[in-house]
Amino acid sequence: MNIQGRKSFRELNVLPSFGFLFDIDGVLVRGKTPIPAARTAFQKLVNSQGRFLVPVVFVTNAGNCLRQEKADQLSHLLGVPISRDQVMMSHSPLRMFKRYHEKCVLVSGQGPLLDIAQDLGFCQPITIETLREKHPLLDVVDHERRPNVLYPSAVELPKIEAVVLFGEPVRWETNLQLIIDVLLTSGYPGNPYWHQHHPHIPVLACNMDLMWVAEAQSPRFGHGTFMVCLENIYKKITGKDLKYEALMGKPSKLTYQYAEYLIRAQAAERHWKQPIQTLYAVGDNLMTDVYGANLYNRYLEENSRKGSKSRIQAKATGGKGSAAVSQDEDIDNSWENELASAAAAHCRTCLLSASTFNSLKYPVFPTLHSVNFTDNTAAQM
Ligand SMILES: [Mg+2]
Repeated sequence: MNIQGRKSFRELNVLPSFGFLFDIDGVLVRGKTPIPAARTAFQKLVNSQGRFLVPVVFVTNAGNCLRQEKADQLSHLLGVPISRDQVMMSHSPLRMFKRYHEKCVLVSGQGPLLDIAQDLGFCQPITIETLREKHPLLDVVDHERRPNVLYPSAVELPKIEAVVLFGEPVRWETNLQLIIDVLLTSGYPGNPYWHQHHPHIPVLACNMDLMWVAEAQSPRFGHGTFMVCLENIYKKITGKDLKYEALMGKPSKLTYQYAEYLIRAQAAERHWKQPIQTLYAVGDNLMTDVYGANLYNRYLEENSRKGSKSRIQAKATGGKGSAAVSQDEDIDNSWENELASAAAAHCRTCLLSASTFNSLKYPVFPTLHSVNFTDNTAAQM
């Protein structure tokens, strides 16, 4: 592959045998500022009608908006039409966790959380803000926000049966307090803590990035930092580890399986019969983009060695590890079958090293909840 070779894709006039997985932050934009070369590069990937010449999926750990909104932003930024089916947010695999879709779940993060949750299939999402309104005695760190008149809530909320962490919230102290309350009361945060709170109700988390690159000279707190806070508070109070039902977003294998599914779907929609053999993952973060792609490459190459027949055994087991319980049964069979038919042979990484991100001496991926990678698929760093 040589994008800047003598012939462009449109001149080659051959069916693509590879697809691209593009990270967004630090690769195409820094904060809200476009990286100029990105627009030029993408002009080389489309034909005269603006249609992509190879399958392209944008894989971001961001999770604070709907796919359509991100697709619109990218279309404007890159000057080529991007559909929402080309966008994968860190929370996109939650579509597969249908076991929780009918249940009342507490959602944490920022942006249009209810819209995002409902778009993913959740029928009864409750925000932290709603919980705070119904239980005004719980959030008292900020003295200015304490209620002036104390009265019991007139409306009872249903039992909260799971917590979904979409991304870093704005008021961390409020979210940390109320999530801990929900975990230590088994879903009834108005009740007193009770000793049989362990194991706690399921927690599903998206985007483990400890830091991320914006316009500032140094990286900024990401959702992983919030998760470290939550894990440590839970451990300090209970003496036990907070365990995730599922972790998703790069570098989890589940994320790459889902991204490959989207790549195959694009190729099928365009009637490209040539199998997609190689995925090129372009990113700027060693510990998410490179680690995740190498992890997935190991998985693909192991599958290739075992032969195509063994692929049916390769169930969608990404996003879990030593601290995550089995999610196989949660994944809808049709999705499982689709994901299990991973067809690519390789996943190659393309690291953009201009970022200040990779010059850091401290880890950007927190070890506390890096529970997915203890098997024999250790990344080739
Ligand atoms: Mg990035």
